[in-house]
Amino acid sequence: MTAPVDPRAGWDVPAPGTMPHTADLEPLVSRVLAPNPSGMTLDGTNTYLVGAPGSGQAVVVDPGPAAGTHLAAVEEALAARGARVVAVLVTHHHADHAEAALPWGAHFGAPVAAADPAVAGPRGRVLTPGERLVLAGTTIGVVPTPGHTADHLAFRLESGAVLVGDHVLGRGTSVVTHPEGDVLAYLESLRRVHDLGPSALYCGHGPELTVDPGAVLEFYTAHRRYREQQLLDALAGGPRTVDQLVAEVYAAVPRALWPAAAQSTRATLAKLAAEGRVRPAAGGAVALA
Ligand SMILES: [Zn+2]
Repeated sequence: MTAPVDPRAGWDVPAPGTMPHTADLEPLVSRVLAPNPSGMTLDGTNTYLVGAPGSGQAVVVDPGPAAGTHLAAVEEALAARGARVVAVLVTHHHADHAEAALPWGAHFGAPVAAADPAVAGPRGRVLTPGERLVLAGTTIGVVPTPGHTADHLAFRLESGAVLVGDHVLGRGTSVVTHPEGDVLAYLESLRRVHDLGPSALYCGHGPELTVDPGAVLEFYTAHRRYREQQLLDALAGGPRTVDQLVAEVYAAVPRALWPAAAQSTRATLAKLAAEGRVRPAAGGAVALA
C-alpha cells in the first residue's frame, strides 16, 4: 500500500503564515483569522461571518479564542459588511473554536448555538443534526460530522460551500481525538460531506479548499485507511506500544505533532479492537488478534 497523494500538492494555496487576516471568500462569507497560530491550529483559527449581502445581519461561526484583538478584527469585518450579529454558531467544543462563544454572544446580544449544551450555554440553543437554520437572510444546514470530536457539526451554506471546522483542515490532515473521537464515525462523516458535493470547504484552520473539495475528502479517507494499514503492518512484526507505533508510523512527521498522532493511533486501535483485529498484549502493548 503506497501513501495516498494529497491533491492539494498541485494547488495554488497560500504558504503557511501568509493567509490574509481578513478575506471575503464569496458574497455570503467573510473570514477573519484569529491570532493563535500553532502546530495544531496552523495559521490560527478561522472565524467566519455568514450572511446575505444587504441583509444587515451576520452569523459568526467559530468565534475562536476570547482575544480582544480578534474581537476588534471581527467587529471591523462586520462593519465592512454593514452587518450586526444575530447568532453565534460553533462547530465543536474545543477552546480554539468555542472559547469566545458565550462572551461574544453576550457582547453582541446574540444566542449561541452548538451541539454541546455546555457550549450553547443556559440561554443558547442545542442544534439538532439535519435541521435548517434561517438566519441573516440565508439558510444554513446543520450537518453532523462526528469523529474529530463527538459533538462536531459542519454547516452547509446556500452557495454549496460547507464550513467544516476541524473535520477537514486547509493543510495536512485532522486528528481523531481519543477517547472522545471515533474513527468509524469520522470516515462516515467524510462520506456524508462528500455526498453533499460541496462547492468549497471552509476549514477551521488553514486555507479554504475550492479547487476540488471532493478530491480532498477522498484523500482524507484514503489517508485514514493508509494509517490503519501501517499500524497493522507494524504489528505484524510483533506487539508494540502506542509510543512505538507512533515512532514507526509517524517517523516523517515533526515530533511536536506526535502527541496528536498518538491520539489518532489510539482511536484507530480502538476501531481495530472493536473489529476483533487487534488485542491487548503484555506490558500495555497491542498485538494482532
Ligand atoms: Zn481547531
